This record gives sequence, C-alpha cells and structure tokens, in this order.
Amino acid sequence: MSSEAPPLGEAGVGLPIMAKYIFVTGGVVSSLGKGIISASIGKLLQARGYNITIQKFDPYINIDPGTLNPYEHGECYVTVDGMETDLDLGHYERFTGIQTTRANSMTTGRIYKSVIDKERRGDYLGKTIQVVPHITDEIKHNIKHLGETGQYDFVITEIGGTIGDIESAPFLEAIRQLKWELGRDAISVHLTYVPYLKAAGELKTKPTQHSVKEMLSYGIQPDVLVLRTEKHLDDQMRQKVAGFCNVDLECVIQSEDMPSIYEVPVSMQRQGLDAAIMRKMGIPVGETPQLGPWRNFLNLRAEATEEVRIGMVGKYDLQDAYKSISESLSHAATYNHRKIRITFINSEFLTPDNIQEKLSGQDGLVICPGFGQRGIEGKILAVEYARTYDVPCLGICLGMQMMVIEFARNVLGYRDANSREMDETTPHNVIDMMEDQKNISNMGGTMRLGAYGCQLEEGSRVAAIYGSTQVSERHRHRYEFNNEYLAEYEAKGMKCVGRNPEANLVEIVEIPTHRWFVGTQFHPEYQSTVLHPHPLFMDFIKSALAR
Ligand code: GLN
Repeated sequence: MSSEAPPLGEAGVGLPIMAKYIFVTGGVVSSLGKGIISASIGKLLQARGYNITIQKFDPYINIDPGTLNPYEHGECYVTVDGMETDLDLGHYERFTGIQTTRANSMTTGRIYKSVIDKERRGDYLGKTIQVVPHITDEIKHNIKHLGETGQYDFVITEIGGTIGDIESAPFLEAIRQLKWELGRDAISVHLTYVPYLKAAGELKTKPTQHSVKEMLSYGIQPDVLVLRTEKHLDDQMRQKVAGFCNVDLECVIQSEDMPSIYEVPVSMQRQGLDAAIMRKMGIPVGETPQLGPWRNFLNLRAEATEEVRIGMVGKYDLQDAYKSISESLSHAATYNHRKIRITFINSEFLTPDNIQEKLSGQDGLVICPGFGQRGIEGKILAVEYARTYDVPCLGICLGMQMMVIEFARNVLGYRDANSREMDETTPHNVIDMMEDQKNISNMGGTMRLGAYGCQLEEGSRVAAIYGSTQVSERHRHRYEFNNEYLAEYEAKGMKCVGRNPEANLVEIVEIPTHRWFVGTQFHPEYQSTVLHPHPLFMDFIKSALAR
C-alpha cells in the first residue's frame, strides 16, 4: 500500500495487510464486459494508492484455454510464468500494469484436478469427496491464496459465465461462504443487462430484477449493481432498480456503450463506483484521484484525426482471436497521434491474383500468430508482398516463421522450404521442432511458454528501439528457427538480431535494409499496456505512418 492510502483492515506495524475481496459476477447475458469492469475497478483502486490484483475463475472443465480453438474462446493470453489463460487477463494487465501469474487464472477443471489429486494422495483421510465442501473449499482456497500473500489490499475475483449456468453454482456457493466469513471485507458486484425495447420505447429492468433474485437464491445479496445499457438510465430508473434489488441508490451504476473500452474507468469513477465499493467496505473514501496519465491517453485518442491503416493477416475471422495485438496497435497509434484503422485480412483467401488489391491500401502489415496448416500460404504471400514492396511488416510467432519460410523459398532458392509443423518430410526444414519438444505427447501446457530472456545484437535497430540489449518477452510455441541455415540467411540479408542466450534460439529476425521488417518468435503484444505501449509496436506504427 502506498503512503497516500488510508490503512486497511488490521494492517499495522509488522502485521501483514489483510486483503479485501471484490467478487464480480454477471447475469442475464454473457459478453457484458465483466473483464473491463473488473479491470476498471482495479485501476480506480490503484489510483487511490492501493495494491490490487485481479483473478479470473472460468467455469469450464478445460484445465486452461491453451488447447481451446480461438473461435471458442478468443485469444489465449500468456502470463510471465507461462500460464495459458483467458483473454480477460490481458485487460487486467493493460489497464493496471500489474503482472498476473498462474494464481490469477483458474478453471473448474483445475479445481477438480487438484481435489482429485489430493484424494488419490490420501489427503482427505477416507472422507467422501463432495462438491460441498471439498470443491467449494478448493475454490475458496484459490480465491484467498493471493490475498494471503500480504501483497494486496484488494483481490478482485471475476467469475466467468452467467449466473444460473449449472457450472457456476460451486463458485457462487464459495462466494456466499466467503461473504459470510469475511463480513464487510468481501462484497459482490453484479453486472446485468438493461435492454431497450424499441417498440415500447422503454428500457426494461425486469431481467435485472430476475438476475438479482437468482443471486439471492444462491444466498448472495449483490452490494453493487452495474447495469449495461445502450441508453442512458435516468435517476428514476436507478431508484426503481435500487428499490427492487435491495441495493443503495449510489450503488446502482450504469455502464453505457462507450466509444472505447478505455473510457470505462473514467465513466465508472464519474459515477462513483470505486467510492461506493469503499463505503460498502467501511473504508474512508477521501479525494477522487485525477487519473492524469490515463486522461492524457484518452485526450490523445480524442485529438487524433488522421488514421494509420494496419492490415492484420491471419486465419481467424474473429476480432477476439488477436485481442492483445489489436490493443497493442491501438496503444501505439494513440501515442503516435493517429487513429488506428485495422483491417482483418483472412490469409486463407489471399492469392497471387488478389494480393495487390487486398494489401495495397495498408500502411503496415502484421503477420499474425497461429497453429496448423490452414491459411499459411496466404501469410507467405503477404510476407513476400511486404518484403518486395518495402511495406513495414511485423511478424509475430507463426508470422515470424512465415517470414523465414518466405525468405528461404524466394531468396535462398529452396522452393520446398517449410516448417516441420506443416510438412513433416520437408527437406528444407528452416523452421523445426524445438529439441526439448520432441518427446512430448501431451498437448496441454507443454509448449515453450512464458517469459524468457532475449539478448539483442549490439547496434541493431531492435536494440535502439528497446533502448537496451537485454529484454524479456513471453512465448508460446513448439517450433523454432533452424540454426543450421543461419549463415545462409545472414549472407543474403536476413539477420538474427535477438537470441535466447541459454538455449541459443533465434528470437528476432530482421532485414535491416528494409524499411521495417521484423519477426519475433515471442509475443510482444502480451506486454503492451495503456500507460506503457510496447516499443516494437510504437516503432512499427511510426514507420508505417512515415511511409
Ligand atoms: N505454431 C507455431 C509454433 O508452435 C507458432 C505458434 C504461435 O504463433 N503462437 O511454433
């Protein structure tokens, strides 16, 4: 806790900080933006000087989303310590600048696995293992775990899914128990939806009332309601909700559609969401923080008139599949005084005949990460286009591998060059499986995951961009650049300008004679935040708009 913050709980000399818990749930429909609200609450409490952390509990059975198709679940976000997690963790990090770890992400699958492992070890001493108390105790343990480290004043726990789903029941029971045990140190923030019925010309609060009833049936009285709405709710409407749902009027907050998710913390602060939470918890509220740097970011966005056009070449026709990349581009465009205009270009449908037409309007191209064969030939065509027309191009993970393959095919003359991932028998395996991946048979959680050090070449463009020769970036891959070909690449102009010193893996390739042509084996997008845009994205955008 920083010096500005009033003391919390029993924190005193030599005593650990007692964390307070905020549970964020959603009702009526999914996609209400619980992640953004959780991140905003985190941001606002942080601005008051508190140390916060945010965790996400997902009710599905998968151990983690790593093996999920992005169409099912959007992007998989990777933490520094190598956990494959829900994309909401990306929002938490981008909004607050905190670093999340595996403790910030939990699924029903992991809860059950842990309980079953304990049962097999004999830890339960012959007891019958049941959802209550064993599963709920495990959930409670994982909620309190971060709070008990003594590092946080607030632990914000977002529960995925929608109230009423069968899967959420054990989580709600755990919250009910914790609220009972912790009294004012735990509160429930519930998000609902207030639809507008055009024919009636009215906003409807009934679904909210039902959702709160559902919460009550689990024994949880929501303390704060955040109502998602496309139209402004007047005070009468809020009064009605407050009265029907046993919630104080100041605790009925509305979350109207905003031009950008980054407006949400400011809107929540204006309505006093953080203050309402603090009063509910018996904490002196004090002055409203200024949010200076955040407002500066919003002002820059509002002031920008000109656009920078970036084409994202990938195979998933779903904006959430590349969430962190598009947010990183947006941060970098803002600080370069431009509006971002991202065009998604499906690589599956790129052909030599349409490539010019599809790509010529872009100031820069991002070749996206991915897995498997589908759409890779289109990515290779896009790389060739960027290389030959000198279009600024950033290749990320699979995108970097496609840069390497394109170079082998069209510059080194190996027409059949490929990655072992796509063609196991390729004679020119310029991308190969990493040595320590060869004996792995389980697909889940076994890639090269998380943050690894990268040594940048002295005097290289990337070293200048980062302003350092030692960086750390997050990874998620099984395949790598095949070092046997390195000398040939370097002789023909594609340089390895970043490598992992321990494993000698190529982490960054660059064509220095090109305007801006950089491929990274890691994912820089996991480390770009609102207040600290990533230097690679910053420089990429700068070069795109100079073109
Ligand atoms: N499929 C590639 C690999 O496993 C790239 C992965 C990615 O783009 N994240 O190496």
